[in-house]
Amino acid sequence: MTSANRYLPPNTLNKLLKVLVKSESLLVIGKSVNLLPIYGLRLGNGPVKVLMWSQMHGNESTTTRAIIGILEEFKSGKALKILDQLSLFIIPQLNPDGSKAYRRCNANDVDLNRDAVSLTQPESVALKGVFDEFKPHFCFNLHGQRTIFAAGKKGKPSTLSFLSPAVNHEGSITQARLKAMQIIVAIKNNLSTSLRNQIGRYDGAFNINCVGDLFTSLGATTVLFEAGHYPMDYDRDITLNFVQDAIMTGLNVIAKEDYIHFSANEYQQIPENSKDYVDIIVHGVTISDGNETLKNQSLALQYEEVLDNNKILFQPKCLGYGRNLDIIGHQTFLISDLNIPDSIEFKTGKIIEIF
Ligand SMILES: [Zn+2]
Repeated sequence: MTSANRYLPPNTLNKLLKVLVKSESLLVIGKSVNLLPIYGLRLGNGPVKVLMWSQMHGNESTTTRAIIGILEEFKSGKALKILDQLSLFIIPQLNPDGSKAYRRCNANDVDLNRDAVSLTQPESVALKGVFDEFKPHFCFNLHGQRTIFAAGKKGKPSTLSFLSPAVNHEGSITQARLKAMQIIVAIKNNLSTSLRNQIGRYDGAFNINCVGDLFTSLGATTVLFEAGHYPMDYDRDITLNFVQDAIMTGLNVIAKEDYIHFSANEYQQIPENSKDYVDIIVHGVTISDGNETLKNQSLALQYEEVLDNNKILFQPKCLGYGRNLDIIGHQTFLISDLNIPDSIEFKTGKIIEIF
């Protein structure tokens, strides 16, 4: 299985930005390790300032695609009203090197979401520079999450997840955090009919080197968005619509200050994400593992996403096996229904070409 839509390299994105955004609104805010430009764009002249950044992790393109969708909405004249109230600063792709290589980290193999205080990387310096200069009231920290999460223990797949980042180890709820919780509840309620039981919450342990934790500690309300898995939507096209809707709802409730009507208690009731899924489970497999041969096993496979010729290739890799796996498969098969031998020599990470 492959996906062309999941790969959004800087060249492709930058061409789109130049069509969608007036040149005077498009700025270069820094350069990546490999000297690619990091773009930022300014929209609106309102008194309330919102900073958002996407693709801090290069293999998380869905929220960047959502930003493109939002820019298209603005260009077509839709939703322009909120730009009277808001000033937006958008960094569509903070990690262009990682985005080009389709990997989480930057070209120095640093996770930029663990570099907020240390500022060892040029991409982190660029984001912090914008934060210090723009002085946002609100921040949207836009990410994508793996297919493994359920919205609550053994719940449905977590298609969207949110977090109001912590400001200390005690989990104190400051004004900035409270607003993030209220915004998340407003978004969740707006999506609850179309995405019933598919919205999760992260349990955020405090780490000041995570960008959201730092910015919230500095008093800017920060909402973490995670675009996740919708059943069988490995292109994330369905998720894309939901996350675009979520971002627009977030902007709308900020513009109208509507979030104040929502309660932090309701935030705590959003089910916590639980690692309960794998991509594929194959039943009825005979496993040979070292000297042992075990019949009638269930084999769990997880896709690894590999950049291959401008597409993302999903390679099913062996994760584990057992008679009764305590995990849910997004897809399940009987080995007798697949066109492969029913006996598999197991090795963690081994690719099984099942289709
Ligand atoms: Zn991420």
